[in-house]
Amino acid sequence: MPKMMMIFLSLVACVTCSSHGASVFLTNENKPIYRMSVCDPAKPFPQMILIPFFEHATQIVPNCQTYPKHETALALFVFYHKWTEYFEDRNYAVRGVLEKVMIQWDIDKKISKRGYNLEGEPFEDRVIIGRVETDTMTWVWQGYDHKISQSALFHELVHLSLRAKYGTADPDHEGPKYRGWTPAHSAMIVETKRMLSAFNL
Ligand SMILES: [Zn+2]
Repeated sequence: MPKMMMIFLSLVACVTCSSHGASVFLTNENKPIYRMSVCDPAKPFPQMILIPFFEHATQIVPNCQTYPKHETALALFVFYHKWTEYFEDRNYAVRGVLEKVMIQWDIDKKISKRGYNLEGEPFEDRVIIGRVETDTMTWVWQGYDHKISQSALFHELVHLSLRAKYGTADPDHEGPKYRGWTPAHSAMIVETKRMLSAFNL
């Protein structure tokens, strides 16, 4: 290979070098503010807690058991691990939304006036266990058996990730009306739940 070509290629390679890979969240810059942000059972609820290592990510909790912040942080790590395994995050859009997300946990389910099931069929007035509220906020019921892996958290994070990547959260999932959600996203959620359940969470 000509020498100039070698130099060119190494320069191109350097442009794509980054000091941090896409999946790197853990640094030694654990901020003191994280240690100060703790759930206090003696104070009124709901309380807002910062999720360590995810910059501005927060959760709003109805009690201190739903959920301890290290459990939610682990869920986010597992989600991102699986996302990058299944898809890509070259522009860090998904990582960016995880670093801004606000998760509002609830001990009660809600009724939704309208929405779509996983196959894309519309429904009206149905009990729901999660809902995306804004670009970065999601409401999530606590989950069956009080486990994050049995809640809709990962499902809602896929909606938020799709919105961050493509501008639409794809409310009809695998249906044809909105684009983004594929069977691979549904499969990824199942695997992510399985991975988190290895921690009994
Ligand atoms: Zn959905």
